[in-house]
Amino acid sequence: MESMQCPLCLAQVQTESKPSVGLRRHMCPTCGSFEVEDFDDFDESGALSNLGYPRYLLSHYVRDWNERHGKAYAHADRDNGALPSKLRTLSVTEKLQRTLMWIADKTSTFYDPAKLNRRRDWPVAQARDVAEFDRFIQYWVDEEALKYLSDDDVIVTGKGWRLVDEVRPGGTKGGRQAFVAIPAACAEDYERAIRPAVTNAGWIPYRVENDVVEDKICDQIVAEIRRSDLLIAECTGGRHNVFYEAGFAAGLGIPVIWLAKSNSEEPDLPFDTRQYQHLLWSDHADLRTQLRQHIQARYPDVKE
Ligand SMILES: [Zn+2]
Repeated sequence: MESMQCPLCLAQVQTESKPSVGLRRHMCPTCGSFEVEDFDDFDESGALSNLGYPRYLLSHYVRDWNERHGKAYAHADRDNGALPSKLRTLSVTEKLQRTLMWIADKTSTFYDPAKLNRRRDWPVAQARDVAEFDRFIQYWVDEEALKYLSDDDVIVTGKGWRLVDEVRPGGTKGGRQAFVAIPAACAEDYERAIRPAVTNAGWIPYRVENDVVEDKICDQIVAEIRRSDLLIAECTGGRHNVFYEAGFAAGLGIPVIWLAKSNSEEPDLPFDTRQYQHLLWSDHADLRTQLRQHIQARYPDVKE
């Protein structure tokens, strides 16, 4: 463990070298945790040179990734380098919405204050710096969607909650969520095909982490299905929880996309869901393409 400058936000952070995989993990309270190659192209300020875009976009990207996945960012495709080469700039409206959502996610009722930590959390809405994040917050105070109780405590007002509901009907954090019901044994199918397909179609995938006991439907799963606008069910392997979760979503009126691995015309479906159309896939590249195209065709309004 050594202290180094965060190559993204330039704060002094703890890092840990992982020589076996050629990566260094940075634990930045602002940007989140991330693993990147040990770069030698730092400029004199310690930041990554040759980025091609402002560093705050990367701070936002990595922090957002941490928030969504609840774990350190590590680039999935090593061949393309350790950091994304193209990043999307959010519109001003999106940045403001993200600010409100972020604060709403930190509280559960309209009188329960959310604790602000601007210095730590400024990248969550893709602000350029602390001052800009503060201006986003001030906008919502002026709009009477937020109210200060003290310098660092705000509450979301009744009007604020109405705005939150308008922006995210399913209650998703910062975007539309697709719940992925998949057997734990198919983790590789998720990482290599389903997650990139869903992300590239402009959705946020949610998968129950491995530490939740399989075949046990807990409150967290039910809550996450409720806040999703789409459920993707991988039938391969025939786990009961996949069918339970898909059935629960269907009962709530949430659309279900059925997937099944098949190398023949007649897939071996363990449970009779044959009256529904299944996306039959042969390998990861095939699944990635089919699933992305299917989601985009169904939801053309969701942008990458
Ligand atoms: Zn940082």
